[in-house]
Amino acid sequence: MTRTKAISRQVRRILCAVLAVTFSLLTAVSCAGGDSPNGTSGKQRYPLVFVHGLGGFGEDSVQTADLGIQYWSVTSGPFLSRLRADYGYELYAPSINSNASAWDCACELYAKLMGVTVDYGKAHSKTHNHAQFGAEYTEPYLPAWSSERKIHLIGHSFGGVTIQLFTELMANGSAAERAASGKAVSPLFKGGKADWIQSVTTLCSPNNGSSAMELLDLAEIVGLGARAFTNTFTGSLLLKGIEALNIKYMGLNIAEVIKAAATEDTAFYDCRIANSAARNASLHTQSNIYYFAYAFDATTQSILENKRILTDAAKLPGLDLLAALIGSYEGTEVETVAGTITVDEKWQANDGLVNAISALAPFNAKQTDWPTEDITTAQFASLTPGRWYNMPIQSGDHPTPCGMFVNNDYMDAFWLPFLAGLDQLAVNS
Ligand SMILES: [Zn+2]
Repeated sequence: MTRTKAISRQVRRILCAVLAVTFSLLTAVSCAGGDSPNGTSGKQRYPLVFVHGLGGFGEDSVQTADLGIQYWSVTSGPFLSRLRADYGYELYAPSINSNASAWDCACELYAKLMGVTVDYGKAHSKTHNHAQFGAEYTEPYLPAWSSERKIHLIGHSFGGVTIQLFTELMANGSAAERAASGKAVSPLFKGGKADWIQSVTTLCSPNNGSSAMELLDLAEIVGLGARAFTNTFTGSLLLKGIEALNIKYMGLNIAEVIKAAATEDTAFYDCRIANSAARNASLHTQSNIYYFAYAFDATTQSILENKRILTDAAKLPGLDLLAALIGSYEGTEVETVAGTITVDEKWQANDGLVNAISALAPFNAKQTDWPTEDITTAQFASLTPGRWYNMPIQSGDHPTPCGMFVNNDYMDAFWLPFLAGLDQLAVNS
């Protein structure tokens, strides 16, 4: 998307090299899942919607459609295609903004799935100084979506944060947006659609924030960089030249985009621990929806020091460095709306980007640890909606569940029992 390109070009220069390497590597990732052939064994099989994370892209992206690179199966082979062809799944992996805040991503996801114009909300867009409306979609990416044909939402990395806010908006809408727009408010902000969603699954998602954001102060780096750029070049020929190009991102000139990067409307802001606690405090676990959280860990406890060291699970050069940094980081106290959170040794296990403790359920949500080491399809039939299930922590790094540096056998073993389990969930309204 235009916004992606604009932000990527301008903001990535500001980011530290490690993160840039990480994101570019993630540009080569992919994922998948499956179950019994022909999709006939489950209680009720609903479509799967895979939502990518920061720096990611969907099947309708230039990367996939034109270049053949798939986020959800880079090195493991075309997993989503296999799910369709070999296991009969109906699934969707749309592209949404790869750098935006969870709010903006949620609005884009709704518009694309429904086939309508993106509406970021009158109140939100005014607060964050960008256009209220974005891309116009005329055909639903997900046909015939309704309370009778629910969906399973599966989000990797920041995509998991996005689908949680998306689910909240589908269920309860936004009082602020209803007040701002009255009858003209987007249907997304009206709420009342919790029963359009059967389950929410997050994979390697910074549900409780990332200590990397505190460690590297990434949000601050982005903000400082954007502010420095703006302050330095305001009124200059350079900035006027950029403005003259009239490249638009969410209706903003690129010069305005740089200013926007210094605001609170970014994924980086959303990944701060304090901001994650504030967001989680505003979310409601829906009584009809099943929630699952998968955390991955590329580290193991050092026997010599109070830190986690890499296992051979971390295969990406950029993630190796970050995994080691996060694995030895502790001591920071973060003030949040839910009280003080101490980043201690419990935050050291990580997947190279996200702390395992953060990728489990939101701290404030009702939750249950999966009772066994293994996951069997039969276990899903007796699960309870309205609470999170913390799945057994998996060995691997951030893009592992997306199929990077693993083979088809791994993907099948990881995904097929789980996806088959989703078919077994009782349907609630
Ligand atoms: Zn926004």
